[in-house]
Amino acid sequence: MNQGTKQRFEAWRTENGATLGTTSSIAEQRSKGLLDAEAEHLYTIEAYTWEEASAIHHLRMGFEPYKPQGCAKPCPKCMALLYPEGSGQCWRCGHVAHGG
Ligand SMILES: [Zn+2]
Repeated sequence: MNQGTKQRFEAWRTENGATLGTTSSIAEQRSKGLLDAEAEHLYTIEAYTWEEASAIHHLRMGFEPYKPQGCAKPCPKCMALLYPEGSGQCWRCGHVAHGG
């Protein structure tokens, strides 16, 4: 069985609040000028899925608890719960499920 791998997510404070993205999506936003030059790096989170990173982000920002999109479904490969309507990423085996 494959192992899930931790991904890095970065939170940045912008004029409109805060944005969270993977390191590569933040780099892409920056290259397209979508991330304010004045944006302040808040922190980097390592997590197995977008949902896990978002939950931590909400705790740190004092937001309402993060609600994943849609219902949790068992991973077709390892039966751990994932959110196919959200990222679809399985925290345990790294499988990515789409649709829902
Ligand atoms: Zn899995």
